[in-house]
Amino acid sequence: MQIKDLCTSCDFWTITTIEHDSETATFTCTYCKNSFQMPWDTNTRFMIRSIRTSLKKRTKKYPELQELKYAGDFVKLVERADPPKGQGCK
Ligand SMILES: [Zn+2]
Repeated sequence: MQIKDLCTSCDFWTITTIEHDSETATFTCTYCKNSFQMPWDTNTRFMIRSIRTSLKKRTKKYPELQELKYAGDFVKLVERADPPKGQGCK
């Protein structure tokens, strides 16, 4: 499977592939090829699910993330503050 995630090695948002057997999940950044392993257990599965959930919110805030479509794509996000609330026209 693939997820979009912030790679801790190249510091870009990239497509990360996740391959797993019954014991180990291997995460690989398709841009810099950095990879790491985690035990394939409920914690890891929960983490992947929460990455996906938070990505939806993040994509609203950072539409650049929609440009990540294929393995090897990468995006640098410039962190933006949340838009100020309650400061509309007066
Ligand atoms: Zn990377």
